[in-house]
Amino acid sequence: MHRSRAVMAWNVFKFCTALRGLGSIMILLVLGVVGVTYYAVVLNNYGPALYDGGIDSLISLVVLIPFHSLLVMLLWSYFSVVLTDPGSVPPNWRPAIDEERGEADPLNGSEFSGVQSDQSNQRIRYCRKCNQLKPPRCHHCSVCGRCVLKMDHHCVWVVNCVGALNYKYFLLFLFYTFLETSLVTLSLSPHFIAFFSDGEIPGTPGTLATTFLAFVLNLAFALSVLGFLIMHISLVSANTTTIEAYEKKTTPKWRYDLGRKKNFEQVFGADKRYWFIPTYSEDDLRRMPALQGLEYPSKPDFDSQEF
Ligand SMILES: [Zn+2]
Ligand SMILES: [Zn+2]
Repeated sequence: MHRSRAVMAWNVFKFCTALRGLGSIMILLVLGVVGVTYYAVVLNNYGPALYDGGIDSLISLVVLIPFHSLLVMLLWSYFSVVLTDPGSVPPNWRPAIDEERGEADPLNGSEFSGVQSDQSNQRIRYCRKCNQLKPPRCHHCSVCGRCVLKMDHHCVWVVNCVGALNYKYFLLFLFYTFLETSLVTLSLSPHFIAFFSDGEIPGTPGTLATTFLAFVLNLAFALSVLGFLIMHISLVSANTTTIEAYEKKTTPKWRYDLGRKKNFEQVFGADKRYWFIPTYSEDDLRRMPALQGLEYPSKPDFDSQEF
């Protein structure tokens, strides 16, 4: 009995080690795609065209300047998601005692069943695996082996959970990846189309193959990231995580839905200057408890719902 348990523990350990190994491979894969793309766009095609003079130089600048700016933002967001702890439960965490449900009930007690789902959502949950109480919106991740605050999903591309503290960085990563891959697809499409023309195309087989590969990879990423981006825009505008979107099917009214603008601020912060960069202003971090991942403002009244 003991022995089999030890074997099982060993297998689980090996599995986790394998996943961690896969983790670094995924980072290398992302950097590999970036490298192939950089080679195709900058070193092969638009870099040399800079010296052609005239309209060619101008077009190269129009491609190369946004290409490099977006690449910086993309890598900054990517490594912010990879390196930021998505949020763990502080040791011996206890829920705050007050509970606003006392004030929510008498106001609209008569006709709304939403109040009940409100209370059931508010019950304090416990994680058996971590042996600790779960803050609201917290979920246990089986890959990370711990509870993660406002867990959205475990993402293999970033080798990390996406949760309260790095969700904004993840969304920015999607956003900049979409812009960058679309730009690359557009700028390489003339070179791609040239493959299918009868004329002679300049370049060695190696450089041509890289251009071909970069075009196909970037087109595939642009399309799949667009799908994710659309999904997450609708999740943010309803103040829902991917996990909650599955659970929510039984409770049509959602206590954290504060209206589109406030929902957006709960993820991106209220300071506009920080919306497009993967970090928060000191003021926002102080003023908005949601950004710390432990407490979330909820609607005082389910009746005043917009959508
Ligand atoms: Zn847990
Ligand atoms: Zn995880």
